[in-house]
Amino acid sequence: MQTDMLIGTSLVKGEDQEERILNPRTGETILNLPEASSAQIDAAVFAARRAFAGWSQTTPGERAGYLLKIADAIEADADGFATLEALNCGKPINAVRNDEIPAIIDCYRFFAGAVRNQHGTLAGEYLPGFTSMIRRDAIGVVGSIAPWNYPLMMMAWKLAPAIAAGNTVVFKPSEQTPLTALKLAKLLAEILPEGVVNVILGRGESVGNSLINHPGIDMISITGDIATGKKVIQAASKSVKRTHLELGGKAPVIVYDDAELEAAVSGIRAFGFYNAGQDCTAACRIYAHKGIYDKFVADLSHAVSSIRFGQTDDTQNEIGPLISQRQRDRVASFVQRAAEASHIELATGGVIPDGSGFYYQPTVVAGALQTDEIVRREVFGPVVSVTPFGSDDDVIGWANESDYGLASSVWTKDVSKAMKAAATLRYGCTWVNTHFMLVNEMPHGGLKQSGYGKDLSTYALEDYSVVRHVMIAHS
Ligand code: NAD
Repeated sequence: MQTDMLIGTSLVKGEDQEERILNPRTGETILNLPEASSAQIDAAVFAARRAFAGWSQTTPGERAGYLLKIADAIEADADGFATLEALNCGKPINAVRNDEIPAIIDCYRFFAGAVRNQHGTLAGEYLPGFTSMIRRDAIGVVGSIAPWNYPLMMMAWKLAPAIAAGNTVVFKPSEQTPLTALKLAKLLAEILPEGVVNVILGRGESVGNSLINHPGIDMISITGDIATGKKVIQAASKSVKRTHLELGGKAPVIVYDDAELEAAVSGIRAFGFYNAGQDCTAACRIYAHKGIYDKFVADLSHAVSSIRFGQTDDTQNEIGPLISQRQRDRVASFVQRAAEASHIELATGGVIPDGSGFYYQPTVVAGALQTDEIVRREVFGPVVSVTPFGSDDDVIGWANESDYGLASSVWTKDVSKAMKAAATLRYGCTWVNTHFMLVNEMPHGGLKQSGYGKDLSTYALEDYSVVRHVMIAHS
């Protein structure tokens, strides 16, 4: 297994404290990995700074060529990447192999094309005797910090637009899930010019904190918790660094009384529990109209109780365990506190299964009120709440009454009702009669405390570049 960090062209071991990397299916240690020392963090930033001068002056076509090579290299070893991601995250192998890896490869290919086809304001004589034009140039060195829920995919979302736009990067994976980033680091060392991407290991409070405060970093891109995002903003304020924040979510899912119930139930079974609910867009905060509420809760609970996990034959598993004991305890305590209220019914789940690994039974918390913690806070586990509603206006108000603003969905056969909801929901995305579906051509990102900055699409290229005006006097 490749366990070295990438600094410049050197593959090197961390020199500081060791972190245990666990297999979430068993709780056993896969290996211990030392994190970067402060000298190594400096060296990575220095390598990225030195590479910037050359990389930022390459043509979009040249950079596209490198991105296509990265995509090809991942594709050539797709099974190796999928197996390693499944091991480190506990994900079902089929989910990684069939859903994540193709989307990751396509992400690099999308940005390879997109960077060669950018559009903007026309050059022209907006003042007589002067020609103005717009440029879009790279920002500099980006410090990129990723979470543990989709390690290789978050790496793609961060690296592809950043390097396509001409930036260089110091990338830090989550300390819990660094293995696929290290595997890719070796390929990047063979493909990219020295220092364009550097990969360093370490915990948030040590290496992450040094990176966001580093004077050699021009922009910080982070996907993580709201609390972490706030620390990034504080650090960035010291030297007015640019920030790109993708923080948590608590997606409202509105099921109207005219919804195709079967489709809503199967959609929520899939998209509320995918990746064991460890997804910032998870369909987890359901509002069901009173007219269909009882049937909906009964059907959803029945469907959710059939989600397969913990099977010896991994190809049978639909979800995996949670990432850690700590995360499992957190999820269990949310459900326990919710269940203490007399109006709550645990329609299914709410149990820690016997055996090893950080599993939690898929859970439906019915009868939840808008004021309940389970409705307001991100659980980040295989748990959904269901709240009955009567009026369409109330439900939009409830859906919007949240610190989060990442994703939402509405389920109805009435197009005008769907359009009205989409126009009033304060979320970065509203799906109609589906949930969770992302494409590399469309932006992903939040409002409110879910952060700002878009991943994916040409909007990400805009975020990782700066608009500049050049004016030429005719004489
Ligand atoms: P986290 O904030 O604990 O960690 C995310 C990353 O930030 C890790 O690499 C961690 O080491 C680093 N970090 C932590 N503290 C830091 C600090 N003080 N300075 C610098 N870096 C620091 O989040 P997590 O537990 O890994 O991930 C789960 C969270 O991420 C959830 O809240 C989830 O909603 C969110 N998330 C959001 C999106 C999105 O697209 N909006 C996608 C995935 C996950």
